[in-house]
Amino acid sequence: GYQKVMEENRKLYNQVMDLKGNIRVYCRVRPFFPGQSRELSTIGLIEEGKITIVTSKNGKEGFKTFNFNKVFSPSATQQEVFSDMRPLIRSVLDGYNICIFAYGQTGSGKTHTMSGPKEITETSMGVNYRALNDLFYIVENRRENFSYEISVQMIEIYNEQVRDLLSKSALNQRLEIRSNPQNGLAVPDANVITVQSTSDVIELMKLGQTNRAVGATAMNDRSSRSHSCLTIHVKGRELASGTILHGCMHLIDLAGSERVEKSEARGDRLKEAQHINKSLSALGDVISSLAQRNSHVPYRNSKLTQLLQGSLGGQAKTLMFVHVSPEVDALGETLSTLNFAERVSSVELGAARANKESTEVKGLKEEVVHLKEELAGKN
Ligand code: ADP
Ligand code: MG
Repeated sequence: GYQKVMEENRKLYNQVMDLKGNIRVYCRVRPFFPGQSRELSTIGLIEEGKITIVTSKNGKEGFKTFNFNKVFSPSATQQEVFSDMRPLIRSVLDGYNICIFAYGQTGSGKTHTMSGPKEITETSMGVNYRALNDLFYIVENRRENFSYEISVQMIEIYNEQVRDLLSKSALNQRLEIRSNPQNGLAVPDANVITVQSTSDVIELMKLGQTNRAVGATAMNDRSSRSHSCLTIHVKGRELASGTILHGCMHLIDLAGSERVEKSEARGDRLKEAQHINKSLSALGDVISSLAQRNSHVPYRNSKLTQLLQGSLGGQAKTLMFVHVSPEVDALGETLSTLNFAERVSSVELGAARANKESTEVKGLKEEVVHLKEELAGKN
């Protein structure tokens, strides 16, 4: 009985996912900081899958609306954000590959979404912890029918170089990416650590964050200039059949997407900016060519896309989580972030929009029928 229910759940779930498309885009707006004036906000109306930005300038009124699969307002809690991603995250236990990206300018809330604030609590913890909590919980629930092994890797990509964040000794080593990994490990030389509980993971992430900070002493604010990637490997065995499933989930806190003023950037800063630019646009190119089902997908253009080659496209599920700041000062970056996000999702969302229109048209047609009936009744 249980097996059958599981099977049907999985089928239903896959149908829903296929229906929705494999690439989804969510948007989250950061709240103002305490004491900031809300009058200087660029955020207009937020609806289920729509956000309108106020682009007014010099007394000239302007608005621009963007469509996504979901938009979270500044008041959305960590819990609410996570509960929407839950089915996606759970599918790693059924052997799917998943990529979740946090994209946006520095200070827009990427790390808040993925990890949470510096001192995490039950309510403030981010997607990384919640995802692992959830996985451990389900693993426990399924233990009569499945046995699972969960392990993690944590790496950083800085200036197109890959570093292991879970190993102090290998911190200065540059790691290679394998484009055709035999064992499912795209970075085989980075530590792979088996974890049994959320507290194991919290310890590891602390280590990762400490290691990350080591690099930061030389360059200021390195964390916003590098991509950090937590990879969760899942190996499952269905006890009755002996079937083995491999799933893999990448949780990626991307480098800040802000453009550096040309006049401002020199030396290291210019180099960083060029690397970030290159890798974010390579990521955008890969995702949009997947969304358009192009036959050629340009994975080779950055370390980030090489790393994810086996986990983007095909049966893999991708969630691009774009973050925007509400301040007027950020308007330019907000618009370019939302344009990027629309570009990566255009095809899928085009279909979603068409669906919506047809239900709207259907509703209107029904209304016309009702009105005609009413009129007929009056005559
Ligand atoms: P990023 O990683 O994009 O540079 P952070 O996640 O560090 O941005 O967020 C910048 C600041 O805003 C941090 O102090 C963070 O705690 C706060 N912040 C971001 N998003 C939220 C949110 N949704 N609710 C409350 N505080 C937030
Ligand atoms: Mg950050």
